[in-house]
Amino acid sequence: MNINKVVVIGSGTMGSGIAAHLCNADIPVVLLDLKTEIAENAKKRILKSRPPLLFEKDKIKSLKIGNIDEDFDNVTDADWIIEAVVERIDIKHQIYKKIFDKRKKDSIVSSNTSTIPLKVLSEKSNLEDKKDFCITHFFNPVRYMGLLEIVREKSNDLNKINSLKKFCEEKLGKGVIICGDTPGFLGNRIGVYAMQVAMTEAINMSLSIEEADAVFGRPMGIPKTGVFALYDLIGIDLMSDVLKSFQKELSKEDEFHKVVTGLPIIKKLIETGYTGRKGKGGFYRMNKSKNKKFLEALDLKKNEYFPVKKIDLKIDKINLLELINRNDKYGKYAWSVLSKIILYSSSLVPAITDEYNDIDEALRLGFNWSMGPFEMLESIGLKNFFLKCENLNDNKFLKNLKEKKIENFYGERQKYTDLQTLGKIKKTVIKLDKNDSAEIFRFKDFNIVEFNTKANALDYNSMDALQKATDKPLIIMNESMQFSAGVNLNYVMKFIKNNDLKSVEKFIKYFQETCKHLKYCKNPVISAPSGLALGGGEEVVLQSNHVISHTNIVMGLVETIVGLVPAGGGCKELLWRWSQTKEAKSDPDYASLKVFDIIGYAKTASSPQEAKPLLFLDNNYNVIINRNELLPAARTLLNKNVNMSPPNECKFKLSGKNVREKMHKILEALYNDKKILDHGMEVGKELAYVLSGGDTDLNKEVTEDQMYKLELNSFMKLIENKKTQDRIIHTLSTGKPLVN
Ligand code: NAD
Repeated sequence: MNINKVVVIGSGTMGSGIAAHLCNADIPVVLLDLKTEIAENAKKRILKSRPPLLFEKDKIKSLKIGNIDEDFDNVTDADWIIEAVVERIDIKHQIYKKIFDKRKKDSIVSSNTSTIPLKVLSEKSNLEDKKDFCITHFFNPVRYMGLLEIVREKSNDLNKINSLKKFCEEKLGKGVIICGDTPGFLGNRIGVYAMQVAMTEAINMSLSIEEADAVFGRPMGIPKTGVFALYDLIGIDLMSDVLKSFQKELSKEDEFHKVVTGLPIIKKLIETGYTGRKGKGGFYRMNKSKNKKFLEALDLKKNEYFPVKKIDLKIDKINLLELINRNDKYGKYAWSVLSKIILYSSSLVPAITDEYNDIDEALRLGFNWSMGPFEMLESIGLKNFFLKCENLNDNKFLKNLKEKKIENFYGERQKYTDLQTLGKIKKTVIKLDKNDSAEIFRFKDFNIVEFNTKANALDYNSMDALQKATDKPLIIMNESMQFSAGVNLNYVMKFIKNNDLKSVEKFIKYFQETCKHLKYCKNPVISAPSGLALGGGEEVVLQSNHVISHTNIVMGLVETIVGLVPAGGGCKELLWRWSQTKEAKSDPDYASLKVFDIIGYAKTASSPQEAKPLLFLDNNYNVIINRNELLPAARTLLNKNVNMSPPNECKFKLSGKNVREKMHKILEALYNDKKILDHGMEVGKELAYVLSGGDTDLNKEVTEDQMYKLELNSFMKLIENKKTQDRIIHTLSTGKPLVN
């Protein structure tokens, strides 16, 4: 089955997201709504969306819009027709009738419903149409969420379902899990249950919403939005509709009913417009006083808002066993929530799926959990779990494990895909070395380095792992969300607090040496980023021999935001790339000024398509839409390029003072317009000094090592400066920049 044209009906949140993502894959798509103006507005929303739904704005050219009356003929030659209108069965039935009257026989028709069973959707369709009718349940935002659940019935043409799965994996990059027709399918059934348990137990155990989010969040490998902030993000009203549907669809005996009602306050919140981030606020809200914005959280006992309290559980790494054994209210809460999620999920095998691994993967891809419930059980350890949880009721899955005294029950991972992913091979590869920040695997004839700190922030140990792993061709990649958010500033600030500048210098030098080594060592080095590749993370990418980039990345050298300059070779490498351009051949200052602009403004790219024109990517890169394919693609490349030779060392001709003066003029104009303040000027001048080549002129040559030295000197000058330290402390505690 070839899919060359798609019609999406309903241009709301989901319809527009799906249409935008089809545009990303260059598939012609027609987006229809009740009125053309509604679809037109959806198109405008796509173009303005943040984070962007499109890889680049130009992708919009695959989109046509219209209305379901005048433009419905588009259905006649469409290969796939997706219904994404409001969750109303009467409206959906009317639309299917229209579609099945018009569509060509070999097309496929699907609904994006999250709550209506397939058998109800298709109850009015004839057998022939039922064969081609399924649910394709995308998650919001469509570009960024990995999960697509395809729900099918026995009546479906399985070949067609499989080719749709293949299309969605290969062209749309989705992790496609085939599910049966049970309420909430896999992701929402467990994910929403987990949220309800986390919410209900927070009340039962008198935890504040900040406390609940602090536990049911990063310490469990769950995004930091936890439960209450996630409610706000999804929309409290939407969650209430989803829960009503679960109430209706689930059998009376289902454990879900015990937690489905949530909190009494929810009704009032919705009625008063506190529907979450899209409304006046929700469990959290922004407030303003004396022109300053600040975040408040709802006190569930007093029903009043108070300034948010930061909860620090003092946990660096995820360790579920340690968490549930903590002798405080957080440990008790964690156990209560986790045990219920594990009990519920396992009680549903095989009723909702034969593959418990699919439940885990649905939670990873659809809710961004780093482990699903069965992996959580594995991580706690069966023995430990059974010691704490004596009452298994009639949970056959767990009873079986307990009776058979099975220790390691977890088999293969990511069963939904045939691709040989990092997640799959990690179980079988040789683990060469591990430190606190990274792990080295040996697979076949190459090594893999996976960073494993929070947001994969880099420190001395990360560099150590990279150095050690270059005895073979090397792939740098990771399973977790981010490639690397940059140098670990907490790590740097610890030295600063102890007045230990020597250690900072030693670390930066080692960072530089490592990056230089990656670039020139005899074995090829491939970076395969996905998610954030910022600051130091981007410097590793810049100095790899080849990049296999996922389409969902954020790349940039953003050091100036925290009052620093890139000092791991970022200034040098980007400058080199820009000095190889045609324009730079005729203007000796072109490259310096261009890079001054990019780094000075901390410009970022949110896709490889955007990264290329900034030269964050040069010619040695491939773009991959399916994250699972990063490793297979890197391997293919290594196999093809066994003799990949290191590049020649770069030598710069820079005009020094001459171009520096031009940069200073730019800074002065920004200062006079109050776009930058005193320290912004200071940082800008340091950046100018580095990018101008320091004390040089066009008759001299600046070597790569000299450039590294300039970067290091400026970095050290800035990190000693109290105002840079203020910026770092502010960003670390608030996540926001400080303008000083
Ligand atoms: P929405 O309310 O944002 O958009 C619905 C769109 O359908 C509106 O633009 C409306 O004008 C249009 N519409 C209504 N009747 C129509 C008709 N007869 N013909 C053509 N267009 C019509 O809804 P949404 O959030 O995008 O949800 C769409 C579907 O996706 C629902 O079935 C929902 O359950 C499901 N879903 C939603 C999410 C989510 O997070 N919002 C996630 C997964 C699935």
